[in-house]
Amino acid sequence: MQHIDSYDFRGKKAIVRVDFNVPLDENFNITDDTRIRRAIPTLKKVLQGGGSLIIMSHLGRPKKVEDKFSLKHIVGRVSECLGVPVQFADDCQKADAQAAALKPGEALLLENLRFYAEEEGKPRGLAEDASDEEKAAAKKVVKESQKAFTAKLASYADCYINDAFGTAHRAHASTALIAAFFPNDKMFGYLMEGEINAIDNVLKNAKRPLTAIIGGSKVSSKLAVLENLVGKVDNLIIGGGMGYTFIKAEGGKIGNSLHEDELIPQALEIKAKAKELGVNLSLSVQTMVADSFGPDANTQLVPSNAIPDGWEGVDAGPESLEMWKEIILKSKTILWNGPVGVFEIPAFAGGTLQIAKYLAEATANGAYTLVGGGDSVAAVTKMGFADKVSYVSTGGGAMLEAIEGKDLPGIAAIRD
Ligand code: AMP
Repeated sequence: MQHIDSYDFRGKKAIVRVDFNVPLDENFNITDDTRIRRAIPTLKKVLQGGGSLIIMSHLGRPKKVEDKFSLKHIVGRVSECLGVPVQFADDCQKADAQAAALKPGEALLLENLRFYAEEEGKPRGLAEDASDEEKAAAKKVVKESQKAFTAKLASYADCYINDAFGTAHRAHASTALIAAFFPNDKMFGYLMEGEINAIDNVLKNAKRPLTAIIGGSKVSSKLAVLENLVGKVDNLIIGGGMGYTFIKAEGGKIGNSLHEDELIPQALEIKAKAKELGVNLSLSVQTMVADSFGPDANTQLVPSNAIPDGWEGVDAGPESLEMWKEIILKSKTILWNGPVGVFEIPAFAGGTLQIAKYLAEATANGAYTLVGGGDSVAAVTKMGFADKVSYVSTGGGAMLEAIEGKDLPGIAAIRD
């Protein structure tokens, strides 16, 4: 693999996988261009190095060609951010002439890769009652044509850059398979490199004590994360809805709080592993409970293991937050993924916002802090702390898979 800083882009065409999957309103205005802006350093590096750009991305989850998922809606903003007029190829498989005509300093954006089933390599349009044989046959067909699809994309360029961390956990044509066409000319973009370094700072080179704060709704969605982290961290704070499964497993009374009985054995295993390894597994001690799941519910603070019937836990109480604050401020490395309460409802968002504040404070004291996951990122942003933590991850699913300890296909394809 190459490094973007030392690669000679002069006269070369670089095909760059970015994640321009930005939110659009009903008039196709971009409502948040963060993903575009974060890819700009990589794109500029190629242009300033004397190369030209073929930019590729997906947008949304189209199952066929659909105008509302067209990347043409964002060409204007990409041009503005990049500072050069960006051309548009309205079919990612028919861009030969436009790619060939690119001169150094010029850029071309390809239409949504997912207009083709071959990008993901998953068959489309199968009847709901298709048999396993039919499914297997359809998969074989799309996998076969995926080779030609990938080869076509690769044929446009001399080198490949992956800067799409958000899709790094997918083995798609543009995120992984294409790398094989550039054995000596493949590299990470700056955003991808930043994400990889951030995860390494936590999982491989952490300064201790290392603390993970994992929140969110369900144990089931983050079981592999908890299982991997318990073997790595000094403190494991489990908050939010998933905490109640652990509290119930310990014999606590959790009222109507969210929980998963079928995961109690796994919760007990994680607790046992923490004990065996001397990891401080910290569960909420005090909970804000509500008598309904809405903004005008009645609330009260109760011990987390004595929640009255008819009430459900919706946020961490001040005693839990004080306890977690102490752990956080004593840590040198902190990973945070998932809210400690029902963050969408402002009355129940206080605990999560507090955690954002403690992370900013820990960072100011010299700790390394990595924040990922939709609600946690929203909390640090809402508090104005996005630049007061060490790193805010752009890839929710990809980050989760990385902290599960998995090798992400998009990363492995460049390193291989
Ligand atoms: P996740 O996608 O797993 O990070 O979970 C985020 C979701 O967890 C958010 O929608 C929160 O509302 C939800 N959540 C957090 N705490 C609770 C709770 N105590 N009860 C129900 N849902 C919760």
